[in-house]
Amino acid sequence: MTNSLVAETIAIFWVMCGVVGAAMLSRHNKAGAGCLLGGLLGPLGLIIAYRMSDKCPYCAELILAKARVCKHCGREDPRR
Ligand SMILES: [Zn+2]
Repeated sequence: MTNSLVAETIAIFWVMCGVVGAAMLSRHNKAGAGCLLGGLLGPLGLIIAYRMSDKCPYCAELILAKARVCKHCGREDPRR
């Protein structure tokens, strides 16, 4: 592998992180934030984006980890 190929591979990997981050948070209408997290921080940003999501204990839909009330079923999460 030449040096430019390594740089290209890393660049593609970073862009992929941005795309995956955007996809992860698009359910919360925060695709831009996910894209920024993945694009700027790479794999670390994806971990942060992943931790921002949680499952509702009642309807199992994805909600934001900080949300106290589920936006899908309207129930209050007893864990917070
Ligand atoms: Zn729910």
